Amino acid sequence: MLLHITQTGSNATGLGYLLHKNPANLHEVKLPFGKATVFYPAATDDRCTACLLLEIDPVELVRGARQLEAYVNDRPYVASSYMTVAIGRVFGTALAGNCARRPELVHCKLPLQLTVEVVRTRGGEEVLHRLFQPLGYHVEARRLPLDNKFPEWGESPYFRLTLTAEITVHNALTHLYVLLPVLDDEKHYYIGEAEVDKLLRHGEGWLKQHPEQRMIVSRYLQRRGALTTQAFEQLLEEETASVEAAESKTEKAAQQERELERPMTLHTQRLNTVAARLKELGARSVLDLGCGEGKLLRRLLADRTFERIVGMDVSHRSLQIASARLRLDRMPERQRKRIELMQGSLLYRDQRLSGFDAAALVEVIEHLDVPRLAALERVLFEFARPRHILITTPNREYNVLFPTLPEGRMRHGDHRFEWTRAEFAAWATATATRFAYDVKLEPVGPLTKRTVRHRRWPCSHCGRNRTNEDHRNP
Ligand code: SAH
Repeated sequence: MLLHITQTGSNATGLGYLLHKNPANLHEVKLPFGKATVFYPAATDDRCTACLLLEIDPVELVRGARQLEAYVNDRPYVASSYMTVAIGRVFGTALAGNCARRPELVHCKLPLQLTVEVVRTRGGEEVLHRLFQPLGYHVEARRLPLDNKFPEWGESPYFRLTLTAEITVHNALTHLYVLLPVLDDEKHYYIGEAEVDKLLRHGEGWLKQHPEQRMIVSRYLQRRGALTTQAFEQLLEEETASVEAAESKTEKAAQQERELERPMTLHTQRLNTVAARLKELGARSVLDLGCGEGKLLRRLLADRTFERIVGMDVSHRSLQIASARLRLDRMPERQRKRIELMQGSLLYRDQRLSGFDAAALVEVIEHLDVPRLAALERVLFEFARPRHILITTPNREYNVLFPTLPEGRMRHGDHRFEWTRAEFAAWATATATRFAYDVKLEPVGPLTKRTVRHRRWPCSHCGRNRTNEDHRNP
């Protein structure tokens, strides 16, 4: 497997700085499955070519395998996920968009030609064009013949791929990193949530707009349903956030906002409402209790008026996801100082929760058993005692309007209860009064005029049946 990266034009040897590999030397890196070598067959001022040669040790690859098929395959010869691991190891600095010695080059679009021998494309030559052309490449694909003694093998899926464009080295590498395994449609390692993060990180700046986004996400994550959903959600969220940012700058903001809100999920509306209220309240230090995967935290981080942001959750797993999605490990120091994640439970008094301007609990209380609410009330209103507390919870009366939700069922498998608006109002008022807070109730989400008369539920307090005739808001 051989990857050539050629820069033409003036000062072509800048490529050596960008790739962090001196053209004068031979660079060898040992990998778990073979060896990667970088060398420069040409390095003059007007043409510089770096080659990454990946030699896979087929014996290492099949160690422990029992079937013949595992021994006889194309893995050592085509650019697959092994190649992307090699790119990550050998050109990691360039892939991350860094160049300490010539930082000004990182954002320079250079006349580049990339050649990969050999790629295998599931879906044929057309897929090569569909994937690379929208990114601005001129695509040349030369099909490599299969042995003509076996016509029944059909057309060869193997190509020599040449891509030409004026592009930054960083972008070119991220394109290859993501798209080589997409072409190949196979991965040699376990696909977990870290893959979603990798895809979004390396797809930053181009994946969102790519017309083949669906194919890329689905193949990159090997069609793991939950992971692809997660990736699409995040792409959509980032899109919404960037659309929102752009909108606030235009005169047509009001009209565009209506357009934008139409496809927004209820949850997005809740999170946006809570973030907006926190800002209106002038809160500078905010607790997000039951922060989950960090969706509210992300919104708060985007606004500098929030100086101290703390996310707490009982679930270690959620916190890990939040940390990965917010990319805490790569956050600039000033930004990083504003945010903290902590594991803790809302049912136990916790010193760390004292001294905040506001606390938000977005869709959290319904995850607690009703008898435990009393503990939460004391922990939050008596001990933590932030100046403002924002709580959202689903309105059960709205559930009949979800066409796919069976009657009497809750929206989420882990919900311990779902209140009517009156039940929530009663709890909120009683709790606020007991702990000397003022209370204000506000609907979130679209009001609807639809009513469905025939559905009834037993009230969780009195046991009598209620209907949803006047029920409007999610
Ligand atoms: N606020 C987030 C997540 C809501 S899901 C959002 O809107 O996206 C509810 C969250 O509450 C889950 O992440 C769950 O782990 C957390 N949670 C449940 N019981 C908790 C408790 N006792 N203490 C802290 N967090 C809890």
